[in-house]
Amino acid sequence: MLEIKNLHARVAETGTEILRGVDLTVKTGEVAAIMGPNGSGKSTLSYILAGREDYEVTEGDILYNGESILEMDPAERAAAGLFLAFQYPLEIPGVATMTFLKAALNSQRKARGESELTTPDFMRRVKDSAANLKIDAAMLKRPLNVGFSGGEKKRAEILQMALLEPKLCVMDETDSGLDIDALRIVSEGVNALRSPDRAFLVITHYQRLLEHIVPDSVHVLYKGRIIRSGGKELALHLESEGYAQVIGEAA
Ligand code: ADP
Ligand code: MG
Ligand code: MG
Repeated sequence: MLEIKNLHARVAETGTEILRGVDLTVKTGEVAAIMGPNGSGKSTLSYILAGREDYEVTEGDILYNGESILEMDPAERAAAGLFLAFQYPLEIPGVATMTFLKAALNSQRKARGESELTTPDFMRRVKDSAANLKIDAAMLKRPLNVGFSGGEKKRAEILQMALLEPKLCVMDETDSGLDIDALRIVSEGVNALRSPDRAFLVITHYQRLLEHIVPDSVHVLYKGRIIRSGGKELALHLESEGYAQVIGEAA
């Protein structure tokens, strides 16, 4: 489903190279985890997948279902089934969460040539998904992410993901800011979305999340390159040994 080939990318404004030849393949139905120390380029990789304009791809390619997405803008990528749950969700004052969700869902349906959902149909879907994620109905009336706790912001991201039903879900440190109960709720929400026709790229620092969302593969990103790939046992190894050993071996 996703094939990242020798991807080099830099910050458009300063020219600083962040990704230095990332190679990664994620198959349909697979959950791939990306781990790595702070500053490795994990968030940058997620932004570049989503099509954020502050970065420039200088070499390599990103293939999604066999086709390059580099020329597609973020809305086109979303319509094609790509979703990014942000590490730091933005606060949007003045836009009720419910209004935002409805606009996001309907603009995506429009881009796919589907009809708009009726309000009752939309309300039913939001309420079902919100209940699964233990999101209070009152929260949906508040402006998106404004004054939400860290955990509430992350749950709101997963609610968007559940409603939009993407094919490729990229989750950037969704576990940060979650207490253990919220971690379980969010993980259950994600696991409920696992399916043979959907893939996940789960970015995390901690093995803890991967006890709940068990990955098929684990990749270590360091200084803009994947320096080690393995199965779920690699996450346990990193937890006990730290990143230093794997970095030393790669050097
Ligand atoms: P991670 O998510 O793995 O912690 P990031 O992708 O956030 O890493 O950052 C990787 C490196 O790129 C860091 O050194 C960061 O400071 C730098 N970086 C990312 N975006 C920019 C930017 N827009 N301008 C300058 N430096 C950036
Ligand atoms: Mg970081
Ligand atoms: Mg990050």
